[in-house]
Amino acid sequence: MTSPPSPNPRPIQVLLVDDNPIQLSLLRHLFQRHGHLTLEARNGAEALLVLATEFPDVVVSDCVMPLLDGYQLCRLLKDDRATRHLPVLLLTAQGGGLSRFWAKTCGADRFLVKGRDLDHVVEVAESLARQPGNNRRSHQVPRLAQENFGVDAIQRQLAQALEQRLIETAMRDSIGRLYTVEHDTAKLIQGFMEILQELVLPGALAVAYVGEEGAWCSGVHGASVSAENRAALEASLARQLAMENLQDCHWHPASDPDERRRSLRDPTTLVLATATPGYPVAGVVGILTERRSADEYERLFEIAAEELGRLLSLEDSRLRLYHQAIRDPLTGLYNRRHILDMLSVELDQCLRFGQPLSLMVVDLDHFKLVNDRFGHATGDQVLSVVAQRMAFGLRKVDQLGRIGGEEFLAFCPQTDLDGARALAERLREVVSAEIIPGLPDSSRVTLSIGLATWCGPEDVPEQLLARADRNLYQAKAQGRNRVEG
Ligand code: GH3
Ligand code: MG
Ligand code: MG
Repeated sequence: MTSPPSPNPRPIQVLLVDDNPIQLSLLRHLFQRHGHLTLEARNGAEALLVLATEFPDVVVSDCVMPLLDGYQLCRLLKDDRATRHLPVLLLTAQGGGLSRFWAKTCGADRFLVKGRDLDHVVEVAESLARQPGNNRRSHQVPRLAQENFGVDAIQRQLAQALEQRLIETAMRDSIGRLYTVEHDTAKLIQGFMEILQELVLPGALAVAYVGEEGAWCSGVHGASVSAENRAALEASLARQLAMENLQDCHWHPASDPDERRRSLRDPTTLVLATATPGYPVAGVVGILTERRSADEYERLFEIAAEELGRLLSLEDSRLRLYHQAIRDPLTGLYNRRHILDMLSVELDQCLRFGQPLSLMVVDLDHFKLVNDRFGHATGDQVLSVVAQRMAFGLRKVDQLGRIGGEEFLAFCPQTDLDGARALAERLREVVSAEIIPGLPDSSRVTLSIGLATWCGPEDVPEQLLARADRNLYQAKAQGRNRVEG
């Protein structure tokens, strides 16, 4: 015999469920040896009866049992708000792939394989029983055990649980599908609201989201929802996002004509974060609805918020990757590939609408000396500051990218050569006039700029760029700090 286990900080109470008396006594023995208290049932139905009066910390159940098996027991417990948080550990038979699949999908917190993992059963049950948030007192009597308990009631409950499962799957599916057609945060949220509003009306539904450009909020509401109701919902969303208020909230009245006739009775508010593990809370869903709907659809609302969170994190990752792929990390400007792609697209537009376009290639003068005198890190900083100043000096319609070490390309739609020359002169002056942080006040950075203007359909981007490069070479040859073209 092994030495007796060390004393536990707190014994736990375990409900053991097994139709095999030998297996049941083995489990009882294992748990009692560790000083734990045990309750017993021979199948799922008996387990529900036990739960009508007892409040164990954890359920350890066999899977295959008569009357109500372990998966069904688990499904019923997890679908019931009263017992959803009661941890369930299922013991599956060895080698049964399908049984392990069911154990996972019925919502069990853990499963162990009988025979192989039974040494750990006490340890695993203890950790489930003691996990944060598992407060024994929070379990209540299961719904089923409150009713006139019999085979009919069990069957009815199981059918309901299955239907609930189907609805939940359909909810996940319909929200998840939005991502296959939309890659735009605002449109995803709009699609989400269209799906969910049926369950919320005659109330209101709003989603607030913190994106790269700050927080915004959008909502839909029934006719009986007042401006005060909406303001209160906005305030709840702002609180959840730890913000003082949501400045920009766009509300739309629900389009459903039937809904207009309904008034909102006994309203209540739900605020659900769209958190995804590993991501900060980016969005929050606010629901103002009748208490009846809030109770009935609570699980669906939670699932919907969770799914929306998943979409928002996916979209966030996609945007981040895209951003990385098109930008130069040092300056934040478009990288060479992307600015040239954008130029091609722009030239297609010029062709279609017969509009002019000019471009400039910009090179920093004697930049090698900056590195040599002040070090590469200072050189990097100078590149970054000059890039910002150039971006600032251009117009909104112009596009700027870094196409080489200290070489930049800007293209200017609807601009002829004279216009481009004026812009280039302005850039040259802006950059050379100002002190650059990190460099002595007497040091200035100057630019040489070569221009080219688009000559029509035959003029491909490579030719255009080559002409601007030749003019840049001229500017260098003529003494630098000048514009040629
Ligand atoms: P010119 O007026 O003829 O253009 O002279 P220049 O010194 O600017 O030109 P050159 O092509 O001889 O040297 C470019 C220098 O730019 C050399 C290289 O070390 C530096 N450089 C290129 N990319 C970076 C970068 O990312 N960071 C830093 N710090 N320096 C860079
Ligand atoms: Mg240079
Ligand atoms: Mg150069």
